[in-house]
Parts: sequence; structure tokens; C-alpha cells
Amino acid sequence: MPPPQVPLPAPDWPIPKLRIFINDLSSKGSTIFFDEVHPTNALRDAVTTVCKTLYTKQNVPRNVRSITLYLDDMDGVAYTKGSDLDNDHKEIHFSTRHIQNSQARAKDEILGVIYHEMVHCYQYDGKGSCPGGFIEDFVRLKAGLDPPHWRKGGDRWDAGYETTAYFFKWIEERYGEGIVQKLNETVKDNKYSDDIFSNVTGRDVGRLWKAYKESLSAGPG
Ligand SMILES: [Zn+2]
Repeated sequence: MPPPQVPLPAPDWPIPKLRIFINDLSSKGSTIFFDEVHPTNALRDAVTTVCKTLYTKQNVPRNVRSITLYLDDMDGVAYTKGSDLDNDHKEIHFSTRHIQNSQARAKDEILGVIYHEMVHCYQYDGKGSCPGGFIEDFVRLKAGLDPPHWRKGGDRWDAGYETTAYFFKWIEERYGEGIVQKLNETVKDNKYSDDIFSNVTGRDVGRLWKAYKESLSAGPG
């Protein structure tokens, strides 16, 4: 008799090869970085949090082959790009000047920026057609890494950063866990259009934004 069939183990979250490249090891920002975070844990936790927030184990993209964190002496905060040779190899470039400037709350800021950038490694973007602020900081907010200066509200839903993050959190609270996963999924193979909001929630994004803004002014206080 053949042995009984053992079900295959469920696939785990994919962890690509993780690398770090320090361009200015002697800088204050690099010193703070290594004092405050364990790079392997930080990158691995960011990968799993982003994947869990945006996907299931069945539909998570498995094409990302490596993620390299660069600590660079540069202006700005951070940016993410595919490697010049192969877009499945991602590069996160992080400013050591920004780390130094955020010294007072360095650990949360470092992790928050890494989570934000990690979203860019995994989110769908409607083949480049999504508004710039789509999703990115929603994951950071859900992970509890929202900086103290973040405020709800704003002028446009797609302004990005915390403006879009709090709006998406409100959509999820109102329309159910998994709504943002669905929004992300709809721009996997299709170009972005505002219609994705009405397809997923039944309300167009202008009305959602208006209702969200009203909910803020109706709040306590
Ligand atoms: Zn971003």
C-alpha cells in the first residue's frame, strides 16, 4: 500500500537575500544606525510585515531576489530602486545625515523609513501609473511606526505620507480588513484609475475622502 499522503507544508513568507552596504562607516549616522538597530532583524521584519499587510502567503510576489540597504552620505531621507541590471534586485538608499538629524528618536525613525521603503520593493503600482503616495506609509502606520509629528487630514487623499496612510486606515476600519490588499491587487496587472476605490468599496474616492474628512471634524473635542 502507498504511504498516506502528507499535505505539503504551507509556504512561508519569502525572505530574499538581504545585504547591507555602508558608504560612510565613520559618519555619526552610521554609528547611530548600528547602535540602535540589528540590520538583519530590521530588514527581515520589514519584509514579513509588508508582505503580511499587503498579501496572503498564496499571492505574495516571490520575484524579489535580494534587497540591499545602502547607508549613503546624501541629502533627503531615502529612496528605493531596482538595480540597474535587474529589477528583481532592490536597493534601499538611506541617508546617514537624516539618521543623524533624527537622533532623538533614531530607532523608530530608522525602522519607519525602512518599512516605508520596503513597501516600494513589494507593492504593485499599476505599471508605474499609481499616485506616488499609494499605500507606502499605510504599512508604516499599521506597524506602529508613525512619527509623533504625523497628523490626520490634509488637502488631497493622494498627497502621500501620513495623509494617505490615515485615509487608508480609515477605509479599512470602515470597509473591512483586507480592503487595502484588494486595492493593491487590482493594480497588479492593470493601470491605476480612481475607479478601483468604487470597485472595492462601492463609493468613489472623492466621496470617501469627503466622508473621511467629515469623520475627523466630527471627532471628540
Ligand atoms: Zn515612498
